[in-house]
Amino acid sequence: MSAIDDLPPLRAVIAAHGLSARKSMGQNFLLDLNLTSKIARSAGKLSDHDVLEIGPGPGGLTRGLLAEGARRVVAIEKDRRCLPALEEIAAAYPGRLDIIEGDALGIDTAALLRPPVRVVANLPYNVGTELLTRWLDPPQWPPFWDSLTLMFQREVAERIVATPGTKAYGRLSVLASWRTDARIVLDLPPEAFTPPPKVRSAVVHFARLDTPRYPAEAKVLFAVVAKAFGQRRKMLRAALKGYAPDIEQKIMAAGLKPTARAEEISVEAFCALARQLEGRGPA
Ligand code: SAM
Repeated sequence: MSAIDDLPPLRAVIAAHGLSARKSMGQNFLLDLNLTSKIARSAGKLSDHDVLEIGPGPGGLTRGLLAEGARRVVAIEKDRRCLPALEEIAAAYPGRLDIIEGDALGIDTAALLRPPVRVVANLPYNVGTELLTRWLDPPQWPPFWDSLTLMFQREVAERIVATPGTKAYGRLSVLASWRTDARIVLDLPPEAFTPPPKVRSAVVHFARLDTPRYPAEAKVLFAVVAKAFGQRRKMLRAALKGYAPDIEQKIMAAGLKPTARAEEISVEAFCALARQLEGRGPA
């Protein structure tokens, strides 16, 4: 029995089901249920939300989410070895845990959830950035989720919350800050995981904005931001050369200096530039 529920401690679950961690699946498990409950609490109130969890593994975070009162958890796990352990959790919380075996990158998760929805996950690092990009750039805004509470390598978390003028500021920072309030809510040393990864980790909480912070067309904004940061040391006029026939005029019409570099340009200014490229002019 553990401190948060009547189920066995996670080390016993892992031993009973032979869940040795596999590097190929990005498996670094959290075995401290006080810590997983803390992560669950950092997501905000859960009792009136469906929660989407990607990669539940042996279920430490899943148990934290359920113990903290999640209305329902939908958990998607690629490693079928974990399913019997997850079924035991589902039996302890009748009607509140749905387990889906599969690759989160290939599943239409929104269709499985009843709003309002929070996404909470200790993501496999190899798919983390791809999933985040999809969640931040869905076909329609607002998206199916109210908040994302996600584990990243500390260095990636710092890039997400970085502000202009810093080395960490880049494509992910603009993407996150345009449509969400993103902040680091927890910092974790390697020893928090089994097996310990090489680097520190951090949990980032993203609260979505109902409308993006500044007007711009997502497709144009993300394309220009990707191009500008693709050559971040170059001046904007060089980095965006060939992007549009009169790019230097458009940069100036957006109120920017053609000699500025991507890492100095605020989200607001990138949006002004995107509007120029759409031909919309000032907001
Ligand atoms: N949530 C558990 C925890 O906190 O202890 C496990 C976290 S571990 C970092 C990542 C989990 O994601 C593993 O259980 C792994 O099998 C699973 N996983 C890896 N790739 C996946 C994918 N594409 N779709 C769904 N789950 C995946």
